[in-house]
Amino acid sequence: MNQTFTFLGVFAHPDDEGSAGGTLGQAAAAGHRVYVACATRGDGVDAKISDPALATRETLGEVRSQELACACAKLGAQPPIFLGYQDGEVDQAPLEDAARAVARLIRELRPAVVITHGPEGGYGHPDHIAVSAFTTRGFALAGDPALALDAPPYAPAKLYYTAMPRSYLERVPAFRDRRADIRGQALRFLGVPDEAITTAVPVADGQTRKLAALSCHRTQFEFDPQTGQPKLFTTSLPEPQRSQFFGHERFVLARGPVLSNGLESDLLAGLR
Ligand SMILES: [Zn+2]
Repeated sequence: MNQTFTFLGVFAHPDDEGSAGGTLGQAAAAGHRVYVACATRGDGVDAKISDPALATRETLGEVRSQELACACAKLGAQPPIFLGYQDGEVDQAPLEDAARAVARLIRELRPAVVITHGPEGGYGHPDHIAVSAFTTRGFALAGDPALALDAPPYAPAKLYYTAMPRSYLERVPAFRDRRADIRGQALRFLGVPDEAITTAVPVADGQTRKLAALSCHRTQFEFDPQTGQPKLFTTSLPEPQRSQFFGHERFVLARGPVLSNGLESDLLAGLR
């Protein structure tokens, strides 16, 4: 029998798991155990509700929790774990407390691989930056024998950051010119220098699962009434930009052994 591993993704908002959805979906299909932890329920004051028939301001957190549960089921992951932070205010949580909560979760679930946002937060979203920081700190604390928590110390093998290569963002107008309105600021995708990317996982295979999971986020996206698919700016990219985006998910190995001279294609490289 093949050896199985546990993956833990830690993200800020429902739908952020999509950034590693192909990878997580493929891991689950290969028999590995996959968990998604989400810092918030996606019900911040800035949150836009794509279809007012589906949620009100009051019900949005509950509705988006269910949407993430649906997405996790489509990915073959375990039901989502919510860390209980307020959408739009994650950066106001004390870092050390949040890191301990992640360390406790890591000790309990014992993942080989942890995935989270990069320190640039994708497009500089303060919630993403905060989740990246406290997950990175929690990753270190989990294995620290000096820290007493409910469960014994456990050090995962690797920590990965989700990443977009900067050359791609600069080449593709749909990304380069896109702005996200966060707390009154127009934020643009930052990406990471291409040479910082350590890992490109081919996920052509996981795309159906990834799109099925994204389709669960009914209150976040517009949907094409003909196909039932979410209308994402990425799904309408022209070729070859679309295949370049959807064909691979890219990561930066933040903690753990570098085992390859070139790009890795597998988050479990060196662990089997
Ligand atoms: Zn997010």
